[in-house]
Amino acid sequence: MPLPADYHMHTPLCRHARGEPVEYAARALELCLPEIGFSDHSPVEYDDQDDWRMLAGELEEYVTKVQLARDTHPALPIRLGLEVDFIPEHEPWIEEMACRYDWDYFIGSVHYISGKWDFDNPKRLAEWEKHDVNEVWGDYFDRLTNAAASGLFQIIGHPDLPKKFGHRPTRDCSQLYSSFLAACEGTGTCIELNTAGLRKDCAEIYPSLEFLKLAKGANVQITFGSDAHAVHEVGMGLENALILAREAGYEKCCRFIGREKNVVTV
Ligand SMILES: [Zn+2]
Ligand SMILES: [Zn+2]
Repeated sequence: MPLPADYHMHTPLCRHARGEPVEYAARALELCLPEIGFSDHSPVEYDDQDDWRMLAGELEEYVTKVQLARDTHPALPIRLGLEVDFIPEHEPWIEEMACRYDWDYFIGSVHYISGKWDFDNPKRLAEWEKHDVNEVWGDYFDRLTNAAASGLFQIIGHPDLPKKFGHRPTRDCSQLYSSFLAACEGTGTCIELNTAGLRKDCAEIYPSLEFLKLAKGANVQITFGSDAHAVHEVGMGLENALILAREAGYEKCCRFIGREKNVVTV
């Protein structure tokens, strides 16, 4: 079965990934991926936010690394993206970054809720004990819905991330999902099928099949990503993601050039 484009890959600039873009691209060619895109953790305005992203002064180096992969592997279409944290009041910064280079897409992700808690960071796992799981899911989806409604992003990353360590809501979340999906539909923002969840405690793709079926019903389009933080993770789980997409009724997915959407068959 032909694999979809892998649009979620990192670089060593984020300080917790290994392997250069040239090496990721070589692996993608081995796997016969039709297209890839880099979307490393973007800088935020102030470099002291955390220790898991590139610094603001490193954007140029990032773009150069991706360009080197393009020059080395001209047979493989390689897109230039960023995984951008959606944090309230950071919108002007995101708009400013968007003007700096010829980005193909931005993935908008929510890793932060309740001020400065990056709830998916293994180093901040203890913090979960101080929070009500249902409230975390509610806060997360409020922020994710605002991210989708902002129109700043082409894609929303790993849209049910709070399940990462196995923290599942005990309340029905369908209303949270529906509001978020309506915002995606309104701005034409895709959601990502992200296979990193298969490698985490939750042991399933982000988002769940239940969520994905609602997304299909709400006319929300999709992309695929391995969220590779190492060369061997490139393309990992994409076959499973494709099966999940089909199970939810999807026959098409999206690709991006210069932040313009193209719909292709998967
Ligand atoms: Zn990461
Ligand atoms: Zn992420």
